[in-house]
Amino acid sequence: MTCPNLGESLKPPKTLIESGAIIHHLSKKGKFFLNVSSFTTFLLALYFHECYDNGQIIKKFKGLAQMNHWGEKRYHSMDYDLKTIYGEKVYKITLNGGMTCPNRDGTVGKGGCIFCSSKGSGDFAGNARASISEQIACGKEALQRKRPVHSYIAYFQAFTNTYAPVPYLKKLYREAIRDPEVRILSIATRPDCLGEDVLVLLDKINQIKPVWIELGLQTIHSETASYIRRGYDLTAFEDAVRHLRSLGITVIVHMILYLPGESRKDMLETLDYLNHMDIQGIKLQLLHVLKDTVLASEYRNHPFHIPDMMEYIQFLGVCIARLNPRITIHRLTGDGPSELLIAPLWAGNKRTVLNTLHRYLKEQDIWQGKEYYD
Ligand code: SF4
Repeated sequence: MTCPNLGESLKPPKTLIESGAIIHHLSKKGKFFLNVSSFTTFLLALYFHECYDNGQIIKKFKGLAQMNHWGEKRYHSMDYDLKTIYGEKVYKITLNGGMTCPNRDGTVGKGGCIFCSSKGSGDFAGNARASISEQIACGKEALQRKRPVHSYIAYFQAFTNTYAPVPYLKKLYREAIRDPEVRILSIATRPDCLGEDVLVLLDKINQIKPVWIELGLQTIHSETASYIRRGYDLTAFEDAVRHLRSLGITVIVHMILYLPGESRKDMLETLDYLNHMDIQGIKLQLLHVLKDTVLASEYRNHPFHIPDMMEYIQFLGVCIARLNPRITIHRLTGDGPSELLIAPLWAGNKRTVLNTLHRYLKEQDIWQGKEYYD
């Protein structure tokens, strides 16, 4: 497209990077000096880009500017945010509050979501028989053996961590935030387990230390949601986000990539939907087939498509480019224990996956929000 106000001879260079390169080139040659006319030309170039590419280039410029503010990464990472706020890396200690899940105990369903492990997707969480203080002390000791650490996130990961009477939850949460080095309380739960009394408690805790609530949405598609036996509908998710945000609580959403039966279009529809929700973080999780799950029997009886590493990385590139740059990325791979992992086995080497992804983003000049449009 072109701008109706521009004649062919006035058509500007196609990208801002090109106009930046022209200025850089002139400056290197000693011919560039910042006078009113060159500055005006640059401003006009910005304006013309918007006309020339119907708004897309100016959005790319915005994305580029944001990319430069995320440290060495091309995406808005949780580590980046935490280092900015706390001045150092903040480490997660995974805790087990000894709860169960309404999708397992028969309240909503039996057996749970089809991908969920017997430990309620909390395979790295602490020992439920130990107190929260003991689990935190143990987590700290393990982390400090490798490096000096001073800041932690107390992360209730296993099962549904708001699914218990409020006095019990209050005791757990208070014990977790009592430790001065615990900066944040992070709670994984379901949208249908955030009743009014729980919200009142979360609000109180959030006034003492920041509370993050993680919601396992996985997909917006009702057919997939019923296949994975998620056990709640999209309205429950939207209500939960609205209630949490009205209290100023940070919301992080889990989305699973490559669920059986979902096309790239389906997955991108979920991502686009989340782009426009009032959420602060996202976990992009590659589907893991774990031993002793319903998904494992499905996979054995009706094998479904599991991407190889390059396919996954290329698709992650598409997701990252399309993701609203304001949303913090908390995860880009899977997080299952290697002894339970049936497929994809390459996902067990998280370091290789992330290094390959970072190289790929650089080679392809991809950054978060590059293809995001309001
Ligand atoms: S809601 Fe969470 S804990 Fe419950 S079955 Fe599903 S994945 Fe497991």
